[in-house]
Amino acid sequence: MGVSPRSRWRSPPLEAPSKTRLKTRLVIAADGAQSPLRQAAQIRTRGWHYWQSCISFTVRTEKPHDNIAYERFWPSGPFAILPLPGQRAQVVWTAPHAEAQRIAALPEAEFLDLLTQRYGTQMGRLELENPRVVFPVRLMHSDRYSLHRLALVGDAAHNCHPVGGQGMNMGIRDAAALAQVLAQAHQQGRDIGQLEVLRRYDRWRKPENSLILAFTDILDRTFSTQWPPIVWVRRAGLWAMRRMAWARAIALALMAGQLGRKPVP
Ligand SMILES: Cc1cc2nc3c(=O)[nH]c(=O)nc-3n(C[C@H](O)[C@H](O)[C@H](O)COP(=O)(O)OP(=O)(O)OC[C@H]3O[C@@H](n4cnc5c(N)ncnc54)[C@H](O)[C@@H]3O)c2cc1C
Repeated sequence: MGVSPRSRWRSPPLEAPSKTRLKTRLVIAADGAQSPLRQAAQIRTRGWHYWQSCISFTVRTEKPHDNIAYERFWPSGPFAILPLPGQRAQVVWTAPHAEAQRIAALPEAEFLDLLTQRYGTQMGRLELENPRVVFPVRLMHSDRYSLHRLALVGDAAHNCHPVGGQGMNMGIRDAAALAQVLAQAHQQGRDIGQLEVLRRYDRWRKPENSLILAFTDILDRTFSTQWPPIVWVRRAGLWAMRRMAWARAIALALMAGQLGRKPVP
C-alpha cells in the first residue's frame, strides 16, 4: 500500500490533550517505534520480528564500571552491560522468547546468579535497581521518512536489534541531518514543510540507516548460531578485527557514523 506524497497525507488535525487544533508548516514525528503519526500518515514499514526477546533492567554495581561497556555474544543472543552515570549500568540481555520469559520470571537471587554467570565479576556484586522488562526484538524500516509537511526521525523511522547499540545513534544523526536540511531551506526562503525540501533528508539518511540495519542484523545472526560455516565466517571476521587495523577502522567508522555524509557542525 504505497502512499502518494500529497494525496493521502492531508495534515490530519493534531489534537493536543486540550483538544486545541494546531496548524504548522512541518510536523516532525519523533514519537517512537509505534509512531502514531507515522501510522496516521499511512507510511508503510517493512521488517521482521527476531526469534529473540530482550530482558532489560538497570543494576547498581559494587565496583566502578570506569565507563566501559561490555557486549558478550552467547549462542542464545548478545548480552550487554552498558555504563550509566554513577555506579549503575543498563543490562540488555537477549535470549529466545520462551527462555527470556523464563529468565525474567526467576526469583531475584537465582536471577542474579545467572546474571553473574553471564557477565562475570568485573563490577563486583550487582543489585537490581528496577523491574525486569521483556520485549520482543524487531527490525523495522519505514518505506519513506517524509511526506508533505511530515518528517520521521529516530525510532519512528527505523528500529534495529539492540546488538551494537545503534538505535539512539541513528536517531541523533537523523535529527542533525534534518536540522541542516531545514536550516538551509529556511535560509533560501523556502517552505520547510515542502516535500521537495524534505526529500533531501530522506535521500541523505535512508541509505545510511539501511546499511546500519543490515549490519546489526548480520551481527546478530552470525553470533547467534553454531552452524559450522557461519562459525568459520565469524572467526575470520574476529581475526580480521584483531589483526587488520583497516577492517577495525571501517567497522568503527560505520558504527560511529563517520562513514557517509556528516552534518556540518
Ligand atoms: C534495551 C535497549 C537498549 C538499547 N541500547 C542502545 C544503545 O546502547 N545505544 C543506542 O544508540 N541505542 C540503544 N537503544 C535504542 C534507543 O533506545 C532508541 O533507538 C531510542 O531511544 C529511540 O529514540 P526516539 O526518541 O526515536 O524514540 P523513543 O525513545 O521511543 O521516544 C519516543 C517518545 O515519544 C513519546 N510519544 C509517543 N507517542 C506520543 C504521543 N502521541 N504524544 C506524545 N508523546 C508521544 C513517547 O512517550 C516517548 O517518550 C536501545 C534500545 C533498547 C530497547
